[in-house]
Amino acid sequence: MIPVRGVSGQQVAILGLGRSGLTAARAIRAGGGEPVCWDDNPAARASAENEGFACRNLTRAGGFDGVVRLVVSPGIPHLYPVPNPVVAAALESGVLVDNDVGLFFGSLATPAWENFETVPRVIAVTGSNGKSTTAAVIHHILEEAGHASQLAGNIGRGVLDIDPPGDGEVVVLELSSYQTELARALTPDIAVFTNLSPDHLDRHGGIGGYFAAKRRLFAEGGPDRAVIGVDEAEGAYLAGQLAEGPPDDRVIRVSSGRKLTGPGWQVFARKGFLSEYRKGRQAASIDLRPVPGLPGAHNHQNACAAYAAVRALGVAPRVIEQAFHSYPGLPHRSQRFAAADGVVFVNDSKATNVDSAARALSAFGRIRWICGGLQKEGGLEALNAAAGAVARAYVIGREAAGFALQLEMETEVCTTMDQAVARAMEDAEPGDTVLLAPAAASFDQYDNFEQRGEAFMQAVRDRLAKPD
Ligand code: ADP
Repeated sequence: MIPVRGVSGQQVAILGLGRSGLTAARAIRAGGGEPVCWDDNPAARASAENEGFACRNLTRAGGFDGVVRLVVSPGIPHLYPVPNPVVAAALESGVLVDNDVGLFFGSLATPAWENFETVPRVIAVTGSNGKSTTAAVIHHILEEAGHASQLAGNIGRGVLDIDPPGDGEVVVLELSSYQTELARALTPDIAVFTNLSPDHLDRHGGIGGYFAAKRRLFAEGGPDRAVIGVDEAEGAYLAGQLAEGPPDDRVIRVSSGRKLTGPGWQVFARKGFLSEYRKGRQAASIDLRPVPGLPGAHNHQNACAAYAAVRALGVAPRVIEQAFHSYPGLPHRSQRFAAADGVVFVNDSKATNVDSAARALSAFGRIRWICGGLQKEGGLEALNAAAGAVARAYVIGREAAGFALQLEMETEVCTTMDQAVARAMEDAEPGDTVLLAPAAASFDQYDNFEQRGEAFMQAVRDRLAKPD
């Protein structure tokens, strides 16, 4: 736990009592502050009260009396599509609005650091897709290289839940746009921007707001090094904006598919090979094709971003290459979990938006594609462009028929996961990949993408155990 500094004897309000809210309450208490909690859900309030935290309806008159700061959980839309009433009341009362990430950055450094040989460093990863994978790969490489490292944020533990980092330790954070948008302090040593594609537009008032939320990590944070995916206009713009000029190697540009030229520092993957160029010269090359945990061009982009981040810390290319090979992969991301009769089964339930699913479709041969769910804004066109390898789409979700109508390929409306798995397995021939990459959120049928991925894997395993 990172005790929150600078709140001793002060009331700090917390809105949203899920995992991150409760962790924030504990960390505030550990720092001598007095948490005042609120959640619309009575069950969530009860669990906070069980831990001895006071709950108070913050929208009532005088709700913010004596409160110096409001900590908002990432699951709560604070401004769009409509301002949250508690956040609005805080602003009205002149209370600072912050989140756990802001508290973390404001509280990390302690006087003990003065005796450290190497101060702890923070690598923060943001972007639309590939954040978890990139953060997990960075963490894995550091461990393999013998560096102490902790992984937190949107993945694994909450930021305030980590152990205070020791001498030379590295903290690797995955940060969503919700988290970067509200944090009042953002001071990573190395910041990584994987890519940008439309997602969560309702929460950010459109793509401009979404990009602005991610950009804060770089603009407010002033990291020593910025690793930036430049395959979209936004990334190219950000890299140009942060660099003093083309040779400025505080910016490391990353691409999947393009050879990057120029006098600066660049890492790119083409045809399965990662290359590092510095000052116009090739510094290293790694064959990514046999790396089992990172299949496809999208994962090669993640590999490049992770490579750049740890190179910035001085890890040697050969050590990184070895660590790529032992990277075990994350559940629900390009997860190859079964194979039978020449058919391979891949769970990519985390492909919750169109761009991530389109990337998954480009990573495999003949595909029996299970897709559908709660459709996000922005249309499905990109899927049609990427669907060359799809033999047939088996569409799930409450609105499966409507989803299928937008796909320009052979489709079958299955609605349920069991039906989709049954049909895909009946049709599959040796050499095919049965791929779950929904291109949609899961909430119409499941609690979350993890539950959807588990349901898929269970349905496949049941059928493999009992062929009919
Ligand atoms: P995030 O944490 O940003 O959601 P993940 O690493 O969990 O990213 O990957 C989410 C999904 O996005 C994966 O299931 C995969 O389909 C896809 N994906 C992974 N990396 C990339 C990338 N670099 N570009 C596009 N899609 C990606």
